[in-house]
Amino acid sequence: MTTAEQTKLLADVEAFCQDIRPHEELCYVEHRFNDQVVPLGKQHNILGMLTPVELGGRGADAVTYLRALARIGREGTGVRTFFSGHVSIGAYPILTWGSEYLKQRYLPAACRGEKILAFGLTEPDAGSNPLEMTTTYERQGDKFILNGVKYLISNGGIADAIVCFGYPANVPEGAQRRVSAFVVDTNQPGFKVENLTAKMGMFAANTAMFELENAEVPVANLLGQEGEGFRIAMGTLVSGRLSVAAGCLGVIEDCLDEVVNYTKERHQHGKPIARHQLVQDHIAAIEMHRVSTEAMVMKAAAAKDAATANPTDNELAKKADILAAQAKFFASNAAWDAADRAVQTFGGRGWSTLYRPGRHLVDVRVCRIYEGTDEILKLKIAASVLGKEFEAFK
Ligand SMILES: Cc1cc2nc3c(=O)[nH]c(=O)nc-3n(C[C@H](O)[C@H](O)[C@H](O)COP(=O)(O)OP(=O)(O)OC[C@H]3O[C@@H](n4cnc5c(N)ncnc54)[C@H](O)[C@@H]3O)c2cc1C
Repeated sequence: MTTAEQTKLLADVEAFCQDIRPHEELCYVEHRFNDQVVPLGKQHNILGMLTPVELGGRGADAVTYLRALARIGREGTGVRTFFSGHVSIGAYPILTWGSEYLKQRYLPAACRGEKILAFGLTEPDAGSNPLEMTTTYERQGDKFILNGVKYLISNGGIADAIVCFGYPANVPEGAQRRVSAFVVDTNQPGFKVENLTAKMGMFAANTAMFELENAEVPVANLLGQEGEGFRIAMGTLVSGRLSVAAGCLGVIEDCLDEVVNYTKERHQHGKPIARHQLVQDHIAAIEMHRVSTEAMVMKAAAAKDAATANPTDNELAKKADILAAQAKFFASNAAWDAADRAVQTFGGRGWSTLYRPGRHLVDVRVCRIYEGTDEILKLKIAASVLGKEFEAFK
């Protein structure tokens, strides 16, 4: 991507963010899905940021894409989560492991907003350990038949195609059971979806569960090789974690802006509250979160670009993996603390979701849960320091 293309993409993202803000605020307080994200994303041509230009996208490198997601993250974790679902964990595995047929079939349409994408790994009884999934597939002629339930899926209720994972229903005696990945079209009788509405935040975003009941998947929609699904899922989570980390950076930046503006205007005890030293403690803490999170996200993004440029180099892939986990863990905790401090400096108004800090606080909490919980990421980070023999899941 040239510098001019990077600048143009970030300008388009800025224009999208300005256009989406009033819709997001209204939909959030009315607890309804923001149906302007896709049309405005299409208008500003930002629905395929990672997809190469030849396939209708913008061909962004990780550094530029994550700067874009940080900007979108300022508009709220819900809007950013749409892009994570559609691009970072929806389009990314098709782009990375999909056949030419799958790329042509899904990615140009995804860039135009005609096909919305999602990623379905989690199940009611398989979250932190996706290998405990019970979804199965069986080959029948030129189709695979999938059965199972996927839970808590971002964009699940609006998606046209979802990258899903399952085990073979029947495995020959002595053979290993290995997960495979599929691109599942949702416009079929075997796909039954339910939007999840009893949630703490992200009221304008879509989160759903769905059942695959004899869902039909053409053989050509197998992603990668049969049995390669777990590797695809874990590789996709690197991309997903980076997107969450970048979104959290945006949350911190927005909290800082909000706090600076508010505390200079709001007077108590005869002066702007920004002059009170204990309020400045919050401002200093949020600024330190911003600086350190930005450094971690950009370091991880550069590592991802290096790994993408050298796809056969396992050491670069491992480095990108661990830096993404560190950045996601750090950014999500920093954003949570930044939003909490922003709420505190807003006083009673901070507690209202009519103001941005309150919305950021309830929304950003999920970032410590999805794409690897705090605990799972700590175990991963500790193992990277201790060595392979200390891996928690061995
Ligand atoms: C809003 C939202 C959107 C989501 N979007 C998607 C999506 O698009 N696609 C998708 O596939 N999934 C998605 N998820 C699911 C998410 O990734 C899971 O919720 C997450 O991985 C945790 O799984 P779980 O909820 O089953 O919790 P569990 O795995 O049951 O964990 C419960 C607790 O136990 C801890 N724990 C579990 N195992 C260990 C261990 N070995 N050591 C220490 N602690 C442990 C966890 O850290 C956690 O604190 C989403 C979730 C939410 C809330």
